[in-house]
Amino acid sequence: MAIPFLDLAAQYRSLKTELDAAILETIGSCHFILGPEVEQFEKDFAAYCHVPHCLGVSNGTSALEMILRAHGIGPGDEVITAANTFFATVEAISMAGATPVLVDCNEDDALIDVSKIEAAITAKTKAIMPVHLYGQCADMDPILALAAKHNLLVFEDCAQAHGALYKGRVAGSMGVSSGFSFYPGKNLGAYGDAGAVVTKDAEVAKRIKALREHGSLVKYHHEYIGRNERMDGVQGAVLGIKLKHLPEWNAERLRHAQSYRELLANVPGVRTLTQHADRVSVYHLFIVVTEDRDGLQQFLKEQGIATGIHYPVPVHLQPAYAGFGWMAGQFPVAERLGKHILSLPMFAELQEAQVREVASAVTAFLKKSGN
Ligand SMILES: *Cc1c(COP(=O)(O)O)cnc(C)c1O
Repeated sequence: MAIPFLDLAAQYRSLKTELDAAILETIGSCHFILGPEVEQFEKDFAAYCHVPHCLGVSNGTSALEMILRAHGIGPGDEVITAANTFFATVEAISMAGATPVLVDCNEDDALIDVSKIEAAITAKTKAIMPVHLYGQCADMDPILALAAKHNLLVFEDCAQAHGALYKGRVAGSMGVSSGFSFYPGKNLGAYGDAGAVVTKDAEVAKRIKALREHGSLVKYHHEYIGRNERMDGVQGAVLGIKLKHLPEWNAERLRHAQSYRELLANVPGVRTLTQHADRVSVYHLFIVVTEDRDGLQQFLKEQGIATGIHYPVPVHLQPAYAGFGWMAGQFPVAERLGKHILSLPMFAELQEAQVREVASAVTAFLKKSGN
C-alpha cells in the first residue's frame, strides 16, 4: 500500500459529521466573513496560546506582515530571521517595507543559530523573528535576552508550531506578538487559507483589528490605510472544532516521531534532527539528513512512499532576492541542509505499521548504497 506524505482526507473522515454540520450552520447564518464562529475561535486560540489577544486573519503570511506594521516596523528598519525558513517569513518582512537580515541555522536541529544573531544586529535592527521550524521551538531564552539587551522586539513565526513547548511555555506566548498559519497542511489546518495573530499588547491587537479590515474599527471610518485580511466564518467554525483535537493529534505526531527516531537510531548514513530535552516538538515535519538525499527520495517513491523537501533552496538563494546582496556560501549550513534534508510521511493518522515500513525502506536504501 502506498504511504502518503499527508492524509487530510483521513482527518476529515474522523470529524465529518461535526464539521459538515458546523460548516452548514455557518453558511446558513450567513456568517461569511468574521462573525461569531471566528470570535469564539479567537477566544479559544488565545487561551490555548496563553496570550490575552488573538485576531483571526486571512493567512499566516499576512499575520506576520501585519504584526510588523502594527508594531510600527517598516522602511529603514531591519528584522532578523533564519536563512532556512519557508519563504513567507522573509516575504512578510519585505512586504512590510522592512529589510530582512538573515542568520544561518544550526546543523543539528536546523533552528536559528543563536550564536550568530548578535553579529547581525545593527543600529537599524528593530526585531528578531525566530521560526519554530518543523514544530520545535527555537532557543528562545537567549533570543529574548539578546532582544532585551539591544532593545529589540521578538515576534515568533509559529506557522509550524501550534502547541509546541519551550521549557513549559507554549509557542506564541514568548514574544510580544506571534503569527500562526492555518494553511490546510499545518498541524491545525483550515479548509482554505487562514491565519492568526496572537499578542500580549492590547494596543497592537486593536491596530491589527483595524489593519485586517481596511484600517477601520467603526464601519466606513478609516483610521489607517489597511488591508483586507479577515478570516472567513467557515474557517473559524472548522478551526474551532479542530482545535479541540489538536493536543491528541500533536501527541500522535510525537509518538510517530519517537518511533522513527528509534527505528533509525542505529542506521549508518542517516541522522534525525536533535530533539531538545527542554522542548516538546509538535513535529509538523519529520526530517532525516543523508548524503544521497535525491537517491533516497527516488527509492522511497519507487516503494510508494511520498516525501517532501522543506526547503530545497534557502531564502538567500531564491531568484526573488537576486540583487539583494546575498551570496552563495553566505549561510553554508542552510545551503548544506537544503541539499541533504528529506521530510518523511508525518500526520496524526499515520499507522505504526506505516512508520515501520518507511523506516525499513530508508534502512534498505542505506544498506544498498553501501553505508
Ligand atoms: C506556512 C508558513 C508561513 C505562511 O503561512 P500561510 O498561511 O501559508 O501564508 C509562514 N512561515 C512559515 C514558517 C510557514 O511554514
